[in-house]
Amino acid sequence: MYDVIGDVHSCYIEFKTLLEKLGYVYTYNSYQHPEGRKVVLVGDIMDRGNYPVATFCLVKDMFEAGNLLSVIGNHDDKILRWAKGNGVKLNNGADKTVNDFESISFSKEEIIKFFEGLPYYLLLDNNKLAIVHAAWQERNIYTDPFDNKKLRSDCLFGPVTGERDHYNLPVRINWAGKRILKEDSPIVVYGHQVHEEPYIINKTYCIDTGCIFGGYLTALRYPEMELVQTKALMEYYEWIGKGERR
Ligand code: MN
Repeated sequence: MYDVIGDVHSCYIEFKTLLEKLGYVYTYNSYQHPEGRKVVLVGDIMDRGNYPVATFCLVKDMFEAGNLLSVIGNHDDKILRWAKGNGVKLNNGADKTVNDFESISFSKEEIIKFFEGLPYYLLLDNNKLAIVHAAWQERNIYTDPFDNKKLRSDCLFGPVTGERDHYNLPVRINWAGKRILKEDSPIVVYGHQVHEEPYIINKTYCIDTGCIFGGYLTALRYPEMELVQTKALMEYYEWIGKGERR
């Protein structure tokens, strides 16, 4: 009933290709599935890729048509803050997104309205499936999915040690590997951390397989738990630390 898709990062063509591979059909400005399946995005819809506006519009149209759900990712959150007029550093591909929106004087109100409507997490199928961008904590179940104060750091960025690695990137804590399962713990599907293959451990599925870095855009079909992938057309960004388990 759901097709959960990893970090799209404005990879419009790969996104459309994957939707078609999953059986979605383009009708009335939106993709819909003949069996009523819904797309669920793990966030990081924006930044780095070549088609920010096209991606935003397709995602928004599918959302409004009731064919797509999404959580917010750290990149989307940055674009939201930019649209609101907050001072943000336009690095890591946000410059491409902002240039594309500005080149056609795209409505900032529309950007704000859409991203403010996305929660930090989604619980689906009677709490059996949790969707989050970066990291899941079981206590989230008791927290309002829009509670910025409580959820922002874990859901958008995930836990870090506070140190930097040899690429000067923050060292992340492998929360999924340390997860302690209870009988009713949900399956967690997330993105944010790039892996060459989906990283599956303790009922968690990281499906960011680095489409933007020339890898794959990955979908996890639920409840079938079947993986469907589309190869990136090109390497849009250099994949720092590829091949290392970080
Ligand atoms: Mn990402």
